[in-house]
Parts: sequence; structure tokens; C-alpha cells
Amino acid sequence: MAQRDLYNVLGVDKKASQEDIKKAYRKLARRYHPDRNPGDKQAEERFKEVSAAHDVLGDPDKRKQYDRGGMFTGVGQGGGGAGGFGGFDAGSFSDILSNLFGGGGEAGGATRGQRAPRAERGRDLEAEVSISFDQAIHGAQIPLTVPTSQRCATCHGTGAKPGTAPKVCPRCQGRGIESEGQGLFSISQPCSLCHGQGTVIEDPCPTCHGSGAVRTLKKYRVNSPAGVRDGSRVRLAGKGEPGRNSGQPGDLYVITRVTESPIFRRRGDNVEVEVPLTIPEAIRGAEVEVPTLGGRKKLRVPPGTKHGTVQRLRGEGPPRLSPGSRPPRGDIHYRFVIDVPASLSEEQSEAVDKLSEVMNGNPRARLFT
Ligand SMILES: [Zn+2]
Ligand SMILES: [Zn+2]
Repeated sequence: MAQRDLYNVLGVDKKASQEDIKKAYRKLARRYHPDRNPGDKQAEERFKEVSAAHDVLGDPDKRKQYDRGGMFTGVGQGGGGAGGFGGFDAGSFSDILSNLFGGGGEAGGATRGQRAPRAERGRDLEAEVSISFDQAIHGAQIPLTVPTSQRCATCHGTGAKPGTAPKVCPRCQGRGIESEGQGLFSISQPCSLCHGQGTVIEDPCPTCHGSGAVRTLKKYRVNSPAGVRDGSRVRLAGKGEPGRNSGQPGDLYVITRVTESPIFRRRGDNVEVEVPLTIPEAIRGAEVEVPTLGGRKKLRVPPGTKHGTVQRLRGEGPPRLSPGSRPPRGDIHYRFVIDVPASLSEEQSEAVDKLSEVMNGNPRARLFT
């Protein structure tokens, strides 16, 4: 496989700022992350390539070296040789993911020289709750069960058997990365022994087998506010996966799915209802009963109401979510539709015949003037 220019790999200009490089890397790493592309070998290769390019260009010193020499043996060679990233595993992937979502975290290697294991922010989780239209309008408490991992109680998250402690990794001396020297140049990759953790566990905890975490189901009651809409996304800070090495927990995002109502259709802050009228009701006007979100109401239909006419009932719609909204509730829109019978009784048929005798103007005449 041919050597690739690292700037090309990240799709940035040679003059790109460190910030631009970081941004480009994050974007690509998200796109090709193995968690998002399960089983996709090509995406995995791209991901490794992008990570390797960022390892060099993301570090101003290494970048200078690279710019001077232009050569970095091993980087971007997919063929599983000595320069490959065979030691990359899920642990290091989640490490990178946590950096991506961690916000303020330094993406470079500022803390890598230290011996203490790096704090890793826990992963963000996403869960969906389904509620009925009624629950969406009036608010509800929805039980939610989220599969997640929890800090192992036996080893308190260290992964080491009680009474023992993780040891500084003998391969990387706790740096979490291995460097392969090529004279002036060197390539770095996550340590193949400790997978970037900087520590190794000699006696694994019997409960969690060294991972420091156990799978668990967390149960919540989610308060769904009155007026919530389909697809709304709420962030519950700190309710995601726990962090490692005293890292912060991730967040839980709850997405609300609202089942459709056969009667009411949501339209932004309002709801719409179709109200059928008979032909005489549309012509003569009428007082008709219509459903509201809390019961029913009488509406005056004026004589001569046209098909598709909308009447608004202000402030009777769904509650608005943003605090202090004025008015606090949306409207209900009643859309009148004229109910045209598909078949007629003999009596109705005669009545229509009579009607056409007396209502015999041509309403289309003005189309041709
Ligand atoms: Zn190591
Ligand atoms: Zn444990």
C-alpha cells in the first residue's frame, strides 16, 4: 500500500492550525469509529489511519519533524505488518470516544507522560421512551430501563483483585503509548500490553475479570413534561456510563417518541382536528360539537362555510414547553371538511335533483374570463 500524506488523510491544508487539525480529526474519527460501523473493515482501517495521522499532526513537535522530513514510516500502511495497529481494542476505542465527547479534554498527549492512569470520561448513552399522545399533552412519568455498566463494587473500579493494585505497565512505563524509533522520526501507537491504560492488572478482580465495571440495568422514572413533542431529546447529565480512573460519568440522552393520535395532529405549538360537516350544515351554518384536549366544546359554524375553512380555539392547545411562554398554551385548529356521501338513498337522490334545478349557475364561468 502506498504511503499517504498525513495532511491528505485528515483532509487539511499543510498550513492548517492545530485547532483545524483537531477538528478534522474529530469529525473523521466520529464517522469511521468502529462502534458506528460494526464489522466494516474499511471503516476500521480508515479509523486507524486517521488516528495515526492525528497522533503525528496533533502534536506540534511531531508535526514539525514530519514537515521537515515528510516521511513517517509505518503510518498509514494497512497491511498488518510491523507498523500496524494490531493492539487497538475496544478499550482504546472508547478512550478516543470519550475524548471526542469530553469537550474540554486535551486531545493531544499532554498528560501522557505522567504515571498516574488517565481519567476517562464515561460514555454517553441514548435511550428512547414511547408515550401516547395523551401522555405527551398532559405529561407523564415514564419508567425507563437503560442497560449500562457500573463501577465494580468488589474492586471499586480498579479491576484488580482486592488486596492487589494495578501495576505500572512494564512495556510503556505508564505512558500508555509505544514509540517505535526510526532515527529522528518515531511513530506512536497505543501500548499493546496495557491498551493505552498505562497500568496492567496481574491479579484480576474475580467479579469483573479486570474490567473494573459490571453490566447492569439502571431504572429511572422519566418525568415527561406536558406538551412534549415527538423526537424531543433531553440530556440527563451524569447518567451515562461511569468514567474510569475517577473520570466523570457520561450523560444519558432520552429521546421521546409520541404515538400519533387518530384525532389530533400536532402542528408546531398547535394541534389540528378535521371536522366533517354535512352539505346542509356547511350551507346553513350549525352548532357542532368538537373534541378538545380535555373534553368537548360547541362551535358555531357560520352559514356558507367553505371546505377547508379553519376555526381556531385559542389557548386550548398543548402546553408550550419553554418556560414563561406567552400564551402558555397553543391553539386547536378545527378544519372543516364537507362530507360528500359516496352513495345516496332514493329520497336523497330526489332532493339533490331538486337542488340542481334551483342551484344551476356556473361557478366556473369566471375561470374563462
Ligand atoms: Zn503499556
Ligand atoms: Zn472488579
